[in-house]
Formats: sequence, structure tokens, C-alpha cells
Amino acid sequence: MIIIMKHHATPGEINTIISQVETHGYHVHLSQGTERTIIGIVGDGRPLENHNFELLSGVENVVRILQPFKLASRDFHPENTVINVRGVMIGGPQLTIMAGPCAVESRSQILETAQAVKEAGATILRGGAFKPRSSPYSFQGLGEDGLELLAEARDITGLPIITEVMSPEAAPTVAKYTDIFQIGARNMQNYPLLLAVGRTQTPVFLKRGMMSTVQEWLMSADYVLSGGNRNVMLCERGIRTFEPATRNTLDINAIPLLKQWSHLPVFGDPSHGTGKWELVAPTARACIAAGADGLMIEVHPHPEKALSDGAQSLKPERFAELVTSLRQIALAVGRTL
Ligand code: PEP
Ligand code: MN
Repeated sequence: MIIIMKHHATPGEINTIISQVETHGYHVHLSQGTERTIIGIVGDGRPLENHNFELLSGVENVVRILQPFKLASRDFHPENTVINVRGVMIGGPQLTIMAGPCAVESRSQILETAQAVKEAGATILRGGAFKPRSSPYSFQGLGEDGLELLAEARDITGLPIITEVMSPEAAPTVAKYTDIFQIGARNMQNYPLLLAVGRTQTPVFLKRGMMSTVQEWLMSADYVLSGGNRNVMLCERGIRTFEPATRNTLDINAIPLLKQWSHLPVFGDPSHGTGKWELVAPTARACIAAGADGLMIEVHPHPEKALSDGAQSLKPERFAELVTSLRQIALAVGRTL
């Protein structure tokens, strides 16, 4: 349930409602927009119908949120969420391009890639240090050494960094280095992990589970948001379908649907969405045309030698061409890049 306050509701009126709600044993989440304050009430599933909050002073309207996700819902937060990561405004008019290798493999590899993606127009550097590989025999990442290399690349280029965290236990170590936690597709429903990152203020990039519905995905976002971390982004990275010709099926529908249902920034990941580098540029352009706030793209200086996801990684020159072509699409949809 949400309580929409009148335009000129006073702090006193808002506080009265908060204490009434808390007396009944429910939790309050405030959304303070430029226009008005919205009070989100979440509890343990017990019905709230019998409380006449609409009779309290300063209340304009009381609305039940019918979707099972609440804090991620646009009803609760009508304005787009904009997240400031070291000065990069994610979810605002300017598109955000995150790029870099699937995995950090060596100092020279990450530094060379970081320089190249920066020159091409990326504003965030990606790179996995703890890799969730489908096979236990595949390269698992450099671990904390990889985090140190990423931090060095940030120091040299000025690009903020994003890297994956795979367990609640690893969260404090990853948080020491990263600017954004990536939660991978395989962990979208790792609830202890979602709760752990929700207790921090480090922004969270939540990838869609490969077999998850949009509704389940937004409920996962609520796990993070309900812990008090409001800095959540969503990333469509393709889902499993009956089509074996591509690694996944990039669900373009999800992008405008999420923009309608949620206030959180939405990204597309055409690298994992297709699994083939030749398909990355056209699908990246489709994501932006569909209203995405940004992209995550895998770039490797020598894809043929990559220790993971070489087949879907762009060479730096091709990535630079892609960014150039995206500028025209951005203009067409009223965004900048
Ligand atoms: C990745 O970004 O390299 C990755 C493992 O992605 P996903 O979780 O979407 O498979
Ligand atoms: Mn990858």
C-alpha cells in the first residue's frame, strides 16, 4: 500500500503517519519526489485494509499496489531513479555504456581494454574477478588480485568500475574495491546475497535470471531495496528459449515493460543476450531504440585468446564503431551519449 501525500503536506503530518504505520507493525519506505512525498507501507503480508489512513491530515490518496513488487514499482516512485556513481549519472538523459572484458585476465589486458573503451566513449569499466562459470573446470577468475587490477585501471583512467559479487561472505571484500556490485543471472534469486547488498549503499546492477519472469526479477529488486539500498539497476541479458542458434534470446520487450512498471534504470546486455559478437551491435542499437538507459558490452583486445566469452566479445575498434552508431539512435530517442 502507498499513501500519497498532498503537495504541501508538512513534515509533522508525514511523521504522524509514519508513527501510526509503525505502531501497527509495518515498515515505512519514503519516496520524496520533487512534487510530493509517497509513503510506501510494507509488512509481512497481513492485510492493511482496516486502517483509515486516508482520514489523516495531509493525505491525498491511499492506493494498493497490485503488483507483488512494491518498492521497485513506478506507483511508489513515479520519477525515474537516477544513480550517481562517481559523477556518472545513471538513468538520466545521458546513456551509460559499461564495457570491458568478461573476466580480468592480466594487468596488461585490463589496462589496455580500459584505455580503449574509455577512448571509445564508455563511462564505466566492467570486468569479472569472481566468475560464476557453468563448468567447475573453466577459468574462475583472478579473485581479489583481479579486484586490485580493476581498481588500478580505475585510478589510471578515472572510469568507475563494476564487478560481480557471488556470495554474501564475499560482499565486504568486493565492496572495498568496486563502485557497483554486479549480481549475475545465476544469482538473481540468491536471497541472502540480495539482502546482503541491500544492507550497503553500494549501487547494485541486477541481471535477469536466465529463466526468470520480469515480475520475479522485480521482486528480487525489492529484496535489495527493502534493505534500504535505493541504488538498483536492472539488466536484461537474455533468457533461455527453445532457440539454440543463439546463446540466449534477448528479450527486448522487457526493456519498455520495465520502464513502464519500474522507476529503476534499465540496461541491455547484448553480449550475453546473443553470445555472438556479430549480433552485438545490431541488438545493442535495438536496446537503445527500445528505451534502455544504457548497455553492458564485453570488449577484449584479443577475443580469440579470451579465457571466457571470447565468442561474444567485441574488439576495441568494433566497439568504437558501435558507440559512434549509437549516438544517432540516442538522438532519435531523445537521449545523449
Ligand atoms: C557476465 O557479465 O560476465 C556474466 C557472467 O553475466 P550473466 O550473469 O548475465 O551470465
Ligand atoms: Mn561474460
